Amino acid sequence: MNESHRMIEECEKYGAHNYHPLPVVLERGRGVWVWDAEGKKFMDMLSAYSALNQGHNHPAIIQAAKDQLDRITLTSRAFFHDRQGGFFKKLAVLAGKDKVLPMNSGAEAVETAVKAVRKWGTLKKGVPEGKAEIIVCDGNFHGRTVTIVGFSTEPQYKAGFGPFTPGFTIVPYGDIKALEKAVTPNTVAFMVEPIQGEAGVVVPPAGYLAEAFELCRRNKVLFVADEIQTGFGRTGRMFCCDHEEVKPDVYVMGKALGGGILPVSAIACDDAVMGVFTPGDHGSTFGGNPVACAVASAALDVIVNERLCEKSQEMGAYVMGKLRQMNSPHVDHVRGKGLLIGVVVKDASGPARPFCERLMEEGILAKETHHQVIRFAPPLVITREEADWALVRIAKVLGGKVA
Ligand SMILES: *Cc1c(COP(=O)(O)O)cnc(C)c1O
Repeated sequence: MNESHRMIEECEKYGAHNYHPLPVVLERGRGVWVWDAEGKKFMDMLSAYSALNQGHNHPAIIQAAKDQLDRITLTSRAFFHDRQGGFFKKLAVLAGKDKVLPMNSGAEAVETAVKAVRKWGTLKKGVPEGKAEIIVCDGNFHGRTVTIVGFSTEPQYKAGFGPFTPGFTIVPYGDIKALEKAVTPNTVAFMVEPIQGEAGVVVPPAGYLAEAFELCRRNKVLFVADEIQTGFGRTGRMFCCDHEEVKPDVYVMGKALGGGILPVSAIACDDAVMGVFTPGDHGSTFGGNPVACAVASAALDVIVNERLCEKSQEMGAYVMGKLRQMNSPHVDHVRGKGLLIGVVVKDASGPARPFCERLMEEGILAKETHHQVIRFAPPLVITREEADWALVRIAKVLGGKVA
């Protein structure tokens, strides 16, 4: 039994079994590469569900963290600290919004958005207290809190965890007519993922986001974009909504905002919405702490300075093109935008999981999403050579050829 096996056994014995990880124990990372306890090298094509857009251990982000660790790490929001203002401004300008509110996990940012739009509806739209409705989509993934899983359509995410928070209406994803029908005078917001990552990299029909945004505008409904997974260059633009020139009323951000180091999340919106929060309404002990602000600030600099949005667009088109040309007997189709790519395995070829296990043997770490889909979402710093390295191995596992 090697070191990795021993460590996996320890995890299984003492840790809750709330995940089903591939049997690999990682101990070092750099860029798109990671190494296991036996020194074997893998390419990380999951990127911690897009939390590693800048790559593992990006030197500039690591340096920002180290510098901050030597100064001050935590103040709580009871005091100001000298890393706050600069980061808030940088993120607000990047999102094109008046203000930001920092939290830690993505789910917390979603909860923050839910609170913001509900209070906005009550104060500004005149929705009676306790009657605010939020429309969400079939197949959504917005996190794991009780409120959030309460409006999930994935039975496993909910089973046994009720009772749930009321006030959510579910409509089919990508169906503008259904959205129109679901709007009532009490609707305060429509919350949507511009591409549904966890549902299997589901891309809505072209024009859907723009039409949904217009519909919201006409009905005085806030458009909330959950860009936690799709933001910060993942789909080839800074935000996925940029593909349709949509400027959501509320951005929900997380994952890559933490530069692969810390959980950092936030919402961004204009004063008309953010203004509903007054001192004591909402908060988080660690939200916006000095290390988080220093790291997130460096993480944003890397996205911009290294032109990761453009790289994601270019490399995404390249990799997706090659995957489509592979003519694998097991692949139904390939979908996605930028470097958020889903390879849909034919039902007849069985679930995606065994393909991910074989990819691991070939040195590629990818994870199935929604049974039938292999998600390829490498760090955006991936080079052409690195992509070619991966494509040869992917072709071997999928029984296809690299064109
Ligand atoms: C990952 C994710 C979340 C939840 O983020 P956590 O940091 O895991 O709480 C919410 N929405 C989307 C779209 C995500 O991909």
